[in-house]
Amino acid sequence: MRDALGREIRYARLSVTDACNLNCVYCGDAGTKAACTGSERMDARSGVGDPLTALDFELIARALVSLGIDKLRITGGEPLTRPDLEDLIVRLSNIEGVKDLPMTTNGVGLAPRLGALRRAGMTRLNISLDTLNRERYAKLTGVDALNDVLTGIREAASMGFRVKVNAVLIKGENECEAGDLIELTREMPISMRFIELMPIGAFGEENADKIVTSGDLLARFPALVPKGRDSGGVCSVYRQEGYMGSVGFISPMSHRFCADCNRVRITADGKLRLCLGVNDELDLKPYLAEGILALTDALRDAIYHKPRGHSFESAFRSNRDMSAIGG
Ligand code: SAM
Repeated sequence: MRDALGREIRYARLSVTDACNLNCVYCGDAGTKAACTGSERMDARSGVGDPLTALDFELIARALVSLGIDKLRITGGEPLTRPDLEDLIVRLSNIEGVKDLPMTTNGVGLAPRLGALRRAGMTRLNISLDTLNRERYAKLTGVDALNDVLTGIREAASMGFRVKVNAVLIKGENECEAGDLIELTREMPISMRFIELMPIGAFGEENADKIVTSGDLLARFPALVPKGRDSGGVCSVYRQEGYMGSVGFISPMSHRFCADCNRVRITADGKLRLCLGVNDELDLKPYLAEGILALTDALRDAIYHKPRGHSFESAFRSNRDMSAIGG
């Protein structure tokens, strides 16, 4: 469907849990709290209700697909921590009209799950990895799991999953590793993508001066050749001669792409969030109780009024950390 501004909305991100087994410095209130669930972090800001069941997500997905959405991304929190994840993927992959069903994961404990994920219908994975240095990984995430994640990335790629690796670079922290991360694409057919730090969560709010922009990186790597856009236009894709994979830049801070935004988000506690950078949400639980027709009508009305764009420039304060939105 199109919203009031004529944008064709085709993509929904389903945050299937707000719990996470990592405590990434920029994602929640990390650094001020020990590893905790997303719900515990949320309590500090606005509170979060019970997570939706797999059936609830299936109903919401069916309603969204009936409105023309054909890409559903599973995210979190950490989706691999959800016990019924594979059942949920089967439910979503069986919906007629779903053309793309990727998952965003931190990759911890991924390798042993790959066979089951594939059988459930998953073909694409975005794996978050900000550093190739074991100590820095532990410092940024709170957990010593770098080798586990690297194993997951390599096995997923060798099993034929389409893999994108997502990194958030921070000045004075892991910015120096951009070249090493790009080197991953030399021997592996993966897409290495750099996402600009956003002011969502305490760290991003307080560290606008530590954003590494796509312009900063492109100036450092002149061998990267532009190859077009991906992910509904929000990712600029580059290639380097002789490398198997590609490099992408997602630049919400330096290159506002709201006019092309084609996505909506469903939080683990059943809220429709139409923009990362606008706090307004619609609680879908009452409509779930009423049935799929009421749910579809409510989604249609709300999506039609999707905000024009984020307000990151104007001292925006998110009511949720990224771990409770889903990225
Ligand atoms: N646990 C999964 C993971 O680690 O990929 C999925 C959830 S995580 C919230 C999704 C993505 O959001 C990750 O790639 C993470 O790097 C990104 N992210 C979290 N906080 C961010 C911030 N303040 N700015 C930019 N990206 C952020």
